[in-house]
Amino acid sequence: MAELELVVRGGTVVTASEQFRADVGITGGRIAAVGAGLEGARTLEAGGLLVMPGGVDSHCHIEQLQAGGGADEETWESGSRAALTGGTTTVVTFSTQFKGRPIGPSLAEYRRRAAKATVDFAFHQIVTDPTDAVIAELPDVVASGIRSFKVFLTYDPLRLDDREFLRVLAAARRLGALVTVHCENYDAIGWMTEALLAAGKTAPKYHAWSRPIVVEREATHRAIALAELVDTPIQVFHVSGPEAADEIDRARRRGLKVWGETCPQYLVLSAESMDKPGFEGAKFMCSPAPRDAAATAGLWEAIRLGTLDVVSSDHSGWSYDGPRGKRVNGADASFRDIPNGVPGLASRLPLLWSEGVAKGRISPSDFVRLTSTRPAQIFGLHPRKGSVMPGADADLVLWDPSRRVTIANALMQHAIDYTPYEGMEVTGWPVATVRRGEVAMWDGRVQAAPGSGEYLPVAPYDLIRPRGVLANGFDPSAY
Ligand SMILES: [Zn+2]
Repeated sequence: MAELELVVRGGTVVTASEQFRADVGITGGRIAAVGAGLEGARTLEAGGLLVMPGGVDSHCHIEQLQAGGGADEETWESGSRAALTGGTTTVVTFSTQFKGRPIGPSLAEYRRRAAKATVDFAFHQIVTDPTDAVIAELPDVVASGIRSFKVFLTYDPLRLDDREFLRVLAAARRLGALVTVHCENYDAIGWMTEALLAAGKTAPKYHAWSRPIVVEREATHRAIALAELVDTPIQVFHVSGPEAADEIDRARRRGLKVWGETCPQYLVLSAESMDKPGFEGAKFMCSPAPRDAAATAGLWEAIRLGTLDVVSSDHSGWSYDGPRGKRVNGADASFRDIPNGVPGLASRLPLLWSEGVAKGRISPSDFVRLTSTRPAQIFGLHPRKGSVMPGADADLVLWDPSRRVTIANALMQHAIDYTPYEGMEVTGWPVATVRRGEVAMWDGRVQAAPGSGEYLPVAPYDLIRPRGVLANGFDPSAY
């Protein structure tokens, strides 16, 4: 064997199925060997550390284009820095399509901006307006390496009605793509919001009141039912409680290809987090809304049972005080007029380790499965990403399972001016992040060159192949 360029020596390798003492040998940016006694030109000592595949964050918003022009405050430069700081080496972010406008120019502009990335990246394509013209663009979108579409069942001006959603599901079936779904009932939320505002209930905490889990459960059920009608695999984004997870579980028991994701905010925050004096609660506002302790316990159970496959950050690129931040409509804005979303690229792995592994709820292998291997598989990036095996990209996080850190915004290294987890003590922290064989982060210092991130075009993959189960054997997507 040619001499190894780099050996990560003396650590404990953790994969999605097991853990064992081994060195990891790297050449040409890829893993060349996993075994004992490896020698290389350079050595990275990992004694006492865990060596895991770099995090794959399959749902985050980085420099996302906005309908009115411009983009999220989180840029590719700052977002990459935050990802690498937190042990994540691959992100999947969103190319956008705006109502009344084509995909092409928007996708080209997003690709241009992503050239500054230092993490590796793939895209989901948001579809808000599935006209004939937009549907006709989707083959080119898929040919460019995007194999997942994102649809919203709520939010003006993003949401699709059921018929529009069916059109996207049918296009995905024809093109071999996965559909990811934000599941909440648009009309129910709008109606509840009007009633709350009429009652004078405008504070941030009423955001949660406007969208109790019943609106998420209903939309999750409906999304799964429509996906079953068309025979298209889907992934449900950000499941916030067990009632929505139960819908996924029931579908999977019947053999449907439905996957579920949750995020640290649903495991750590609650609706009570939004009940702070003044406007402070806005910092914890995201959709679906964080729930309560019972919901959190139910989510952990769904994670353990495998109903939820992925823990992503849903990192949002809005700050508190910034030009498009939480206070964009004033510090007395009603909950309806406050931007949704919380930042979490850098805190995703520490929070899940601390709340999950350190507290005995999940195993280290579960952690790897949820944060790296499964997202890589579901979005067609595996085995290049998400595994520690010969041939895979040498993306690693060297993890100190017992380091205690108090989360502070400065440690997050994002462009956002706050973290909802400020002051929280976590156990477990990334010491180093290796991206394609390069030490991209060491002890909080990010040293990857801007622009060194690679675009990951996704080729057809078997996991998302339709089942071929159609009512009466008739395939409506063919017409
Ligand atoms: Zn999101």
